[in-house]
Amino acid sequence: MRKWSHYMAIVISAKKKMKSDTIVAISTPRGVGGIAVIRLSGPQAKDLALRFLSVDTLLPRHSQYSCFSSDGELVDEVLAVYFPAPHSYTGEEMVELSCHGSLYVQQAILQALLDGGARLADPGEYTLRAFLGGKLNLSQAEAVADLIDSATPVQHRLAVSQLRGGYAQKLKMLRQQLVDLTSLLELELDFSQEDVEFADRTQLRDTLADLAGEVMRLIGSFSLGNALKRGIPVAIVGRPNAGKSSLLNALLDDDRALVSNIPGTTRDTIEEILIIDGLTFRFIDTAGLRHSDDSIEAMGVERSRRAVADADVVLYVHDATCPWQTPEIDLSEKQVIYVNNKGDLGITASLPTPSVDISAKTGVGLSQLRAMLTELYRSRIDGSNTLLSNERHYEALLRVQEALDAAARGVDGGVPADLVAVDLRDALYHLGTITGQVSSDELLGNIFGRFCIGK
Ligand code: GDP
Repeated sequence: MRKWSHYMAIVISAKKKMKSDTIVAISTPRGVGGIAVIRLSGPQAKDLALRFLSVDTLLPRHSQYSCFSSDGELVDEVLAVYFPAPHSYTGEEMVELSCHGSLYVQQAILQALLDGGARLADPGEYTLRAFLGGKLNLSQAEAVADLIDSATPVQHRLAVSQLRGGYAQKLKMLRQQLVDLTSLLELELDFSQEDVEFADRTQLRDTLADLAGEVMRLIGSFSLGNALKRGIPVAIVGRPNAGKSSLLNALLDDDRALVSNIPGTTRDTIEEILIIDGLTFRFIDTAGLRHSDDSIEAMGVERSRRAVADADVVLYVHDATCPWQTPEIDLSEKQVIYVNNKGDLGITASLPTPSVDISAKTGVGLSQLRAMLTELYRSRIDGSNTLLSNERHYEALLRVQEALDAAARGVDGGVPADLVAVDLRDALYHLGTITGQVSSDELLGNIFGRFCIGK
């Protein structure tokens, strides 16, 4: 892992060199493929490409067949597309070359362009340039990374909505209203002797309420948005021997191809990822508990408690051959599905709702359990308009909320304009960090450093 200071240096150098450097990278994944795409961006992109191509000129936005030769030798037959500035992804002069996907060909073309004077692009530098060039706002640039990472229809939908502007557009509008009001409020300071009010207090209060409402709605949508993006955390809990591990294994067995193991943050939790009907679920496996000594049973309960606290939904597994007992963990605040296991043994306990009868051993009832899990989310996803899924935006909005609350209290309490203005400026600052109207090199380094080369 490279340190963020490294990426900060990249941002600063990218800003400095944007005007002069032409960058190049292979934008398709590492490895052999049918074709590979090599991208050039910067003032020399067109001239540099033409030095190696057999065509005399590159027409804007035309796919042109051409030979690519280096040192008098044919490297490959390619298709070249020229995007003149500012009508390109980065807003700069760009050329994309599609060549055959041989490792040798990719490298030979890249090397020829580097020898010709281009510089290898840094991670995320194309998207960074698109942001610095005003083609994308910061929230959209982050959505590009999410889109590339999306592996399920739901993750894809979240990324696309953010890329298309999503809530950023709305926040931008509200921010503009707030800017106007803050300026008026600050104008009053220049006339403080004369006791005038340029900023209508009722209007100020209304705008603050509008903005606070929107901010609160977005903050409230984060737990669902984040769960959908990272995987919905599910805790499987229940008394020892109820069949928790058997249930998890049965669920995973059926979907072997879709399973991956992610070591948890602590040594004793394992997360199992399962995609059910396009939704990613993260099963927090506390089943390992039973392997611990009896003497640390209490620790086991504590661990389950933590798993429940972190989970969005709890599968409470009960052994149907035993009488029902109230769980020792408080589940009142949680979405719970009560799972009546060991149905194959022919005895069924009566459980609280919603419940499902299953047999982890024979697989009976598992598809119903899966359907219940996805059903919990389908309606919520369909019923919501915009969901906040970006943690950085969430943190920023919490700061905005604090500042707006303080400002509203100030207005209500008749606090002097200059003090209210300080809170408003604070809210404006944090709002601005979401779309990048306010940005620091450190922030940009953090965001774009996570991209791959070629993005
Ligand atoms: P855990 O302690 O809750 O993780 O329980 P396990 O998954 O280890 O299961 C405890 C015991 O119950 C094991 O002997 C399992 O084979 C058995 N078991 C689990 N599920 C079923 C089931 O659906 N039917 C039957 N007959 N036995 C089961």
